[in-house]
Amino acid sequence: MEVGVPKEVVPGERRVALVPETIGRLGDGVSVIVEAGAGLAAGFPDADYTAAGATVGDPWSADVVVKVASPTAGEAARLRAGQALIAFLAPLTDAEGVARLDAAGVHAFALESIPRITRAQPMDALSSQATVSGYKAALIAADRLPRFLPMLMTAAGTIPPAKVLVLGAGVAGLQAIATARRLGGIVSSFDVRPAVREQVESLGATFLDLGVSGEETEGGYARELTPEQQAAQQAELQSRIPGFDAVITTAAIPGRPAPKLVTAEAVRGMRLGSVIVDLAAETGGNCELTRPGEVVDEGGVAIVGTTNLPATMATHASQLLSRNMAALIGLLVSDGKLVLDWDDEILAGACVTRKEISI
Ligand code: NAD
Repeated sequence: MEVGVPKEVVPGERRVALVPETIGRLGDGVSVIVEAGAGLAAGFPDADYTAAGATVGDPWSADVVVKVASPTAGEAARLRAGQALIAFLAPLTDAEGVARLDAAGVHAFALESIPRITRAQPMDALSSQATVSGYKAALIAADRLPRFLPMLMTAAGTIPPAKVLVLGAGVAGLQAIATARRLGGIVSSFDVRPAVREQVESLGATFLDLGVSGEETEGGYARELTPEQQAAQQAELQSRIPGFDAVITTAAIPGRPAPKLVTAEAVRGMRLGSVIVDLAAETGGNCELTRPGEVVDEGGVAIVGTTNLPATMATHASQLLSRNMAALIGLLVSDGKLVLDWDDEILAGACVTRKEISI
């Protein structure tokens, strides 16, 4: 079975779906064709791929094509019926992209749709990339703040620690909390899933009680709050936010626009030099003033809406993603051939096109 690794074409996407260290882990009978320069922006030159046993060539003819971003129309035109494709396909929001893959006749597996069951944890690319985003968000906040994060006792006197609020304590939020804590900040956090309180506290942060709590789905995701609950959350946050130097927001509901947690008025109540890093920018933002891909200055408060943070740490983000890919590829191969077992709940759950037809 051949696995093809194209070079990503979306502007700013520096990651690659498979890195050289993973190639040896794909098992007997699996060979890898990598497009020239595919790993370069992530720090992996072609020579490292060939040294690991891959060949450099046309990845689009392979039995399984592995990508980071969903194929563009031009890329999809290079796919052929019966191939398997694995990538982030945004199946809940990119109906057009999925329809394109359906028309191409490929078996498309969306990394977002892998069921969150224990056996699938090694394939959980949403979590591996959210870890990168959360870490980077804390670094961005620290870098932009005109203050120290830790308390400093110097000959010139004592500097108090910065106060950081992390809204949404899923995978990214918990990593942001851990990173801000390591840097010495005083961290508070809130999530609508009450079960998260213990995780927040175990990282040395304080769980904020906003008097609002929501439900958790079977997959561990939050359900959307009612409009009344949302209004209550915004009002409560509005009075708390001015007490923080940095706010990192990570709240998300799969397939829905990001919940608005931070109002424009709350931003205007913040001290000069404060920072908001909005990890939900891509799905509309948790802050009313966020502009995706931009840094907004609202009266001296920076609102960072930078998207695709994992691409800014492309080496490790790709390495983690690549291990997730290898685990998933392992489910597609039997005796060195592409075999799709639709009775496997992970494969069936992740497949978004041509699920019913087996080869
Ligand atoms: P996500 O990216 O969908 O959402 C991020 C966080 O935002 C979630 O914690 C959610 O509760 C929170 N949120 C939603 N609306 C909010 C609001 N109005 N205010 C504050 N917070 C809000 O979630 P995620 O990080 O991908 O995962 C969520 C959880 O899923 C994890 O913490 C974990 O419990 C579970 N999970 C399970 C597995 C598994 O394999 N079993 C793997 C990964 C994650």
